[in-house]
Amino acid sequence: MAEDCIFCKIIDGEIPSAKVYEDEEVYAFLDISQVTKGHTLLIPKQHSKDIYHTHPETAEKLFAKVPKIANAIKQTYAPIGLNVLNNNEEPAGQSVFHLHIHLIPRYGNEDGFN
Ligand code: 5GP
Ligand code: ZN
Repeated sequence: MAEDCIFCKIIDGEIPSAKVYEDEEVYAFLDISQVTKGHTLLIPKQHSKDIYHTHPETAEKLFAKVPKIANAIKQTYAPIGLNVLNNNEEPAGQSVFHLHIHLIPRYGNEDGFN
């Protein structure tokens, strides 16, 4: 656990979150600021600040869970599409420095995410 990392605090239950999925390696939860309904973040329990600082084994375990979470979102929210993305470093839009994957369900042009 990294000090002052909000996602480590979420994993620890120190900060509440809406859990989507959890196992020994990863944690998935709803983004507090829903870009679209069902916007989910998937994170490794092992802290690393971004993809550059992530052990390949940690990345492998994290990315391997994407289809499972994607299917859970599809079943729950019935979107017509899904974006999977990962921001690294501030210029690329990273604001929380604990590696995370966004899963953003899409509902058509009116869903407001472009
Ligand atoms: P980034 O901009 O780093 O790619 O994404 C960080 C995401 O974390 C943002 O979409 C933001 O809304 C989300 N976020 C920040 N703080 C919290 C929090 O305390 N709880 C939850 N559930 N999401 C958070
Ligand atoms: Zn962390």
